[in-house]
Amino acid sequence: MAGLSPSAKALVIAAAAGKSCRCGYSVDHIMVSPEPQYSPWGSFCVLFMGISTPPLKLKFVCRNCKSHLMTTQDPKVLASFI
Ligand SMILES: [Zn+2]
Repeated sequence: MAGLSPSAKALVIAAAAGKSCRCGYSVDHIMVSPEPQYSPWGSFCVLFMGISTPPLKLKFVCRNCKSHLMTTQDPKVLASFI
């Protein structure tokens, strides 16, 4: 899971326990990626100023079947996603 610290990854795995996409992948599978959702101001900073701000939420989506496994707004997870 790119971009997350080991403790944030453990929180995500615990929150998504038992969930899997249509291919049977769980949230920690290599094909499942976090997709950050930024506020308008946050995207502005990231795109135009090159400053990274924590996203508002993270959606975990399977790159193979596009299934949405879970969304987290846990501040500890969001703060570790850079
Ligand atoms: Zn899938």
